[in-house]
Amino acid sequence: MAAELPTLRVCALYPTLMNIYADRGNLLMLERRCEWRGIGFELTGAGIGQALDPDAADLYYMGGGQDRDQMLCATDLYEHKRLALGAAAERGALVLGVCGGYQLLGHSYELGNQTLPGVGLLDANTVRSDGPRLIGNVAIEVDLPGVGTRTLAGFENHGGRTHLGPDAEPLGRVLKGHGNNGRDGREGVRCGNVIGTYLHGPLLPKNAWFADWLITTALELSEPLAQLDDTLEQLAHADACKAAGL
Ligand code: GLN
Repeated sequence: MAAELPTLRVCALYPTLMNIYADRGNLLMLERRCEWRGIGFELTGAGIGQALDPDAADLYYMGGGQDRDQMLCATDLYEHKRLALGAAAERGALVLGVCGGYQLLGHSYELGNQTLPGVGLLDANTVRSDGPRLIGNVAIEVDLPGVGTRTLAGFENHGGRTHLGPDAEPLGRVLKGHGNNGRDGREGVRCGNVIGTYLHGPLLPKNAWFADWLITTALELSEPLAQLDDTLEQLAHADACKAAGL
């Protein structure tokens, strides 16, 4: 008898407030790629005032948001979800933050005379700059366990500049675009199973390989995932790389 396929349990943090540039598409991508392979998919959400269960998901996800929406979420995240999210990361759950979500996974986000607290899962600090927003198509080179050196392509639009602390490794090297702060050639951050990136797009439909890496890693699968017909996904990836100027 064939082994029973697992279920990917995803928890979206602030799914309505932290969802800019169609970041919700990342969840749909995970759902479809699981479904097409007969892998179960369960999606829960944790909004303002809702408790976060540190054992209930394999992947915790927070999309991007405008400063205004981040302000609404930051205190709730810090006061009511920080410990649970920390416990989830500690037991090995994947945590992925995109743009505004990435910023809130770091230590803090300074905006003028206000400092939004972050949950401190990533050794990174973000400061809102008076300079121009960092906008445009972006491509980065990443090196991840099990897949080697690959390209992620997407779109960025952020006023915040993120600087990594001494304990942090970037998710990737900027090939085209601005990255964390437009200066040091670094994009995103990966601290074990906690990942932040500025790439919207949404990220996963433009980078199907990364969606599969997340599924494999979150479920701790030892066997490769079943192949899918990725003709369209490969075109989307190629197009995003081309748009970035690769
Ligand atoms: N508000 C944040 C910034 O401008 C994040 C923006 C976003 O998520 N696109 O830096």
